[in-house]
Amino acid sequence: MMRTLLFYFTFIFIGSIHAQFNFRSPIDGEIKIAANFGELRANHFHSGIDIRTDGEEGWKVYAVEDGFVSRILTSKKGYGNALYITHPNGLTSVYAHLSAYNDIIKNFASACQTAHEDFELDTILLPAAIPVKKGDVVAFSGNTGGSSGPHLHFEIRDTKTEFVINPENVGFEIKDIYTPRIFSVAIFSLQGYQSKYVQTIPIPNGKTIPVTPGRVGIGMSGIDYYSDYQFNAGLYNTQLFKNDTLIFEKRMDTFSFDHWRCINAHLDYEVLQTKSINIEKCFHDDGDLTEIYPRLLNQGIINIKPGQTIQIRLVTKDHAGNQMQVAFALRGTVAVKKALPKYNALPLQINNLTARKATLTIPAGAIYDTCMFSFYADTTYRNYSYKYVVGARTIPLQKEIELKILPITIPKSGTEKLYVKSLTMGSVGGKFTDGYMVARTKTCGVFVIDVDTNAPIITPINIPYSKNISANTTLKFRIYDTQTGVKSFKATANGKYILFSYDLKYNLITCNLNDVDLSGNNDFELTVTDGCGNIKRYKTVLTKN
Ligand SMILES: [Zn+2]
Repeated sequence: MMRTLLFYFTFIFIGSIHAQFNFRSPIDGEIKIAANFGELRANHFHSGIDIRTDGEEGWKVYAVEDGFVSRILTSKKGYGNALYITHPNGLTSVYAHLSAYNDIIKNFASACQTAHEDFELDTILLPAAIPVKKGDVVAFSGNTGGSSGPHLHFEIRDTKTEFVINPENVGFEIKDIYTPRIFSVAIFSLQGYQSKYVQTIPIPNGKTIPVTPGRVGIGMSGIDYYSDYQFNAGLYNTQLFKNDTLIFEKRMDTFSFDHWRCINAHLDYEVLQTKSINIEKCFHDDGDLTEIYPRLLNQGIINIKPGQTIQIRLVTKDHAGNQMQVAFALRGTVAVKKALPKYNALPLQINNLTARKATLTIPAGAIYDTCMFSFYADTTYRNYSYKYVVGARTIPLQKEIELKILPITIPKSGTEKLYVKSLTMGSVGGKFTDGYMVARTKTCGVFVIDVDTNAPIITPINIPYSKNISANTTLKFRIYDTQTGVKSFKATANGKYILFSYDLKYNLITCNLNDVDLSGNNDFELTVTDGCGNIKRYKTVLTKN
């Protein structure tokens, strides 16, 4: 209860101080978005806004306020090329999926990358290193990292806590003329400490829904639009009233990265996995620590007696105040005596499970809700290990669980070639320790021990047959490993490191020849290593006139 109150005051504070911020737009012209803050994504809430760039890369990206470059991140996935600018007002702005930085930042970044002989960079800068003024062109928009089309991902964070803040709360204006929509209402039965989805009803305005007496939860599906029906967005604020008392509220003002994965507790994960439908729960799981619930009375759970009628009102509002409301009643039916569902795992404690030649540790806080967590060996499968069923695909995980499997046989190639494989997700890595393969995973599934003795694959994309690269502006290779993935790569010319950027979604590495001097003859070597230490080398002599 204390926690809930504290967060409530935090929200009011942020709401009341935004008048003092005087940010400019990070792009030229009006901000049009493809995604808003808090939008529902796979395994996370969206932490910023996605600003549209008309399908183009290379738009100028401006510092939104005076400050200094506080962090440069270059990654093969996720944010891709990203930039963090810290401002004197206590906030930090973040710009991601960039195609390029301005020259000062680019030179700083490539010096760090070359010094570490690694494209992947995550460096923190002191205020004096690269100061910026509001309106400076700091970078150019792009499509790097986990981006699936050109746009600018833009974030505002609290500098001290790193909590992300809804940019609309601090003065970034997005035109919003459309009303958010509720499509349907869902009913959950919450008996035996487990939530069970019962049914979905399209807009039950004025209706009375019969429900089994006991603990009942409400869920809802809906989306918002801003000023373009082509781009739907997440719901900003949802309130659930029981007989006119507010018992649950979700508001997308701020959250921490520690808890953004709790979206899998906010949504009904089973319905998401089995029907690909987002149902936002208007009640709360014990293990869901997201900061997005300013109001939780009795966790949003409704107790209903046989024959009792309860009035329910569901209201959703966008940031501009447009709103939609659905009002209906629940009526308790005749009581039925049913056996409560069984469980073997609790969310707030360590759960240790065993199976034949294997153990499983579920740390406290790894599951969100009380559940029956399967763990058993299929001994009809005998390869390097038995086959293990670990949980179910309908159970979401907040933290990694640890799987220890005793191998049945050790391959001639040695224990370093062993890895643990999910039959659906592929390699989850693993380390041979004290006779066991130990691996961690955040996704339930079916697991076995497998062996990787195959080296990665290197495919030159634009190396001329003559090996004369005088006409090239770039060098591109596809690098790939089917089993344990590419762990690292390194390219050298005459023994000297040369920088290639890496974009994992295309398995593509690229060297910009404007940035390196390869005139004359070069002994070129590219080395790619996979997760089990298998190495592939590509060697040639590249000539530039
Ligand atoms: Zn984004």
